[in-house]
Amino acid sequence: MTEEDKDVKTIRCTQCAAEFSDAEAEGITRCPKCGDPSVPMLISDDVTVKVNWHELHVLCVFAENWARKVDEDMKDDSPIKHLLNIMCIAERLQRQHPDKAPLTLFSEIRQLRKDVAESDDMSGVKIVTDIDSDDKLGL
Ligand SMILES: [Zn+2]
Repeated sequence: MTEEDKDVKTIRCTQCAAEFSDAEAEGITRCPKCGDPSVPMLISDDVTVKVNWHELHVLCVFAENWARKVDEDMKDDSPIKHLLNIMCIAERLQRQHPDKAPLTLFSEIRQLRKDVAESDDMSGVKIVTDIDSDDKLGL
């Protein structure tokens, strides 16, 4: 490894997207920035994929729901915040196309709450769900 190679970022945190070189990542078991203990991604695995937004929405919603169930079932037995990881991934995807509809139910409900609050026609409408609760993210 040359001195230049030591500074090349090779891995990225799945949760916060912080990037680290091999030298920076050596021996660590959690992201130094956010503390996430889940497996990081190899930056060399970045790809461009043609996908329909609806397909991506379906994948994100199913991943979101499964992650929510796993977090609820495991409660405090796992240091990994699965739903938060899925939401962070979906958020990075969403930022690539901010004009498109939300990719997760969490984000759809948040958008709906905002739309209702800003609409005179929907005054009195109450949205009853905890799908978009920050508590579910383990924050
Ligand atoms: Zn991180």
